[in-house]
Amino acid sequence: MVFTDDTVASLAAAVDLVNSAEPPDTLTETDQLKNFFVRHGYTGSRTGDAAELEAVRAQRAPMRRLLTSERDTAVELVNAILARHRAVPRLVRHDDLDYHIHAVAADAPLPVRIAVETAMAMIDVIRADELSRLSICADDACEGIVLDLSRNRSRRYCSTACGNRNAVAAYRARQR
Ligand SMILES: [Zn+2]
Ligand SMILES: [Zn+2]
Repeated sequence: MVFTDDTVASLAAAVDLVNSAEPPDTLTETDQLKNFFVRHGYTGSRTGDAAELEAVRAQRAPMRRLLTSERDTAVELVNAILARHRAVPRLVRHDDLDYHIHAVAADAPLPVRIAVETAMAMIDVIRADELSRLSICADDACEGIVLDLSRNRSRRYCSTACGNRNAVAAYRARQR
């Protein structure tokens, strides 16, 4: 299974966004949103103000639903997002990126771009019937989403923190 680079990037950004809601919330300041924007290579407009932060935070619940729903529900959510924002796919080439699809204008608000780009990425996941690549963290106390694109589907934890915590717990259990 191979997803295109922009699909992988959109999925990774959406998962990172959703997981920022896991306690302690790591998206409470505009600086944290700026880091998210830079970290995931976003281009296009942003206001950088508190209203944008609030609107992006408000996307976390619907994006979580989109990434974790079963297939038919995910299809409905994708179609609803694309219709609501009147997504028009077109091929573009910018910076050092070869042709890829943009379905939303670069000057659309950041939360709208996140929603449409996640929906576009989910089109690939749904068509390939690879929704099992998205799961909930195996840590008992964590609801983070795991994006596993590895060949042997070996990822069980949403973060190295969750992975390490469980490795230590397993080690201690073995020592007892
Ligand atoms: Zn682009
Ligand atoms: Zn986790």
